[in-house]
Amino acid sequence: MDYQKVLEKIYEGALPLMGVGKQADYIPALAEVNPDQFGICIVPVGDDAVAQVGEAQTRFSVQSITKVFMLAMCLSMEGDNLWTRMGKEPSGTSFNSLVQLEYEHGKPRNPFINAGALVMADVLISRLSNPEKEFISFVREMSGSFVDYDHEVARSEERQAYLNTAIANLLKHHGNIRNHISDVLHFYFLCCSVEMNCCELAQAFRPFADHRRPFSFAGVELTVSQVKRINAIMQTCGFYDEAGDFSYLVGLPGKSGVGGGIAAVNPGTYSVAVWSPRLNAKGNSVMGLKALELLTTETAESIF
Ligand code: GLU
Repeated sequence: MDYQKVLEKIYEGALPLMGVGKQADYIPALAEVNPDQFGICIVPVGDDAVAQVGEAQTRFSVQSITKVFMLAMCLSMEGDNLWTRMGKEPSGTSFNSLVQLEYEHGKPRNPFINAGALVMADVLISRLSNPEKEFISFVREMSGSFVDYDHEVARSEERQAYLNTAIANLLKHHGNIRNHISDVLHFYFLCCSVEMNCCELAQAFRPFADHRRPFSFAGVELTVSQVKRINAIMQTCGFYDEAGDFSYLVGLPGKSGVGGGIAAVNPGTYSVAVWSPRLNAKGNSVMGLKALELLTTETAESIF
């Protein structure tokens, strides 16, 4: 498959949507990003022929995509014990909903909503001697690049963190957070603030696409079966309250973030990352979603 040609065609197809949607502005630092940008990069499994188009080398805030890295670390340390503290069902509500968490007594539906990620941040703080350092080392090793936190974005989010603070308080009330709430929130915002470009992100997701190979990065080890399970959760829970539509339109496991990024995998074939800051009403990148829909349509390759 000539992915470079495919990406060029996709770019043409997605371009009419440039200008549609609105970038996230509830994190003030994200509101300052030029919204009219687009980049995409594909990293094939077992082949170094990386294909890229547009602003694929411009770093952006990965935001919730980081939850996949957090899940990989938590699963490697906790195994199935993790599921005593959160579920693995799609939430059917927005990623920062308090209502569901309240009536489910402080047990988050899945690791990819904010409540689940706050519990994962708590697990990592309890388990790691230097969570900040060890988390970024892991993402660096997965991406093969010296990626880093954007402390300004993390601070900017922390200053307006009313809703996430409410979620953390509810979790603590139900005994599902063991460390200090302020430490958990601080570490969670840092994890969300990691800056990567599309090629770094696609590279970091390659091990999920290369799903038959045991996973070992910076001391984080997962079995083939655990990688399969992470892909399953990406498929069912990776796109906020739009996982069903994403599955229908695209047909790949993946994870989106409010920075406008989407990382996805076609197991056994490739990993892909796309970025464009303007979001639809559900919080997913408008051009990103279109580009991935065109990708699996053009190539006739998806998990279905
Ligand atoms: N840091 C963001 C928040 O907690 C992440 C949201 C996202 O990308 O879904 O609101």
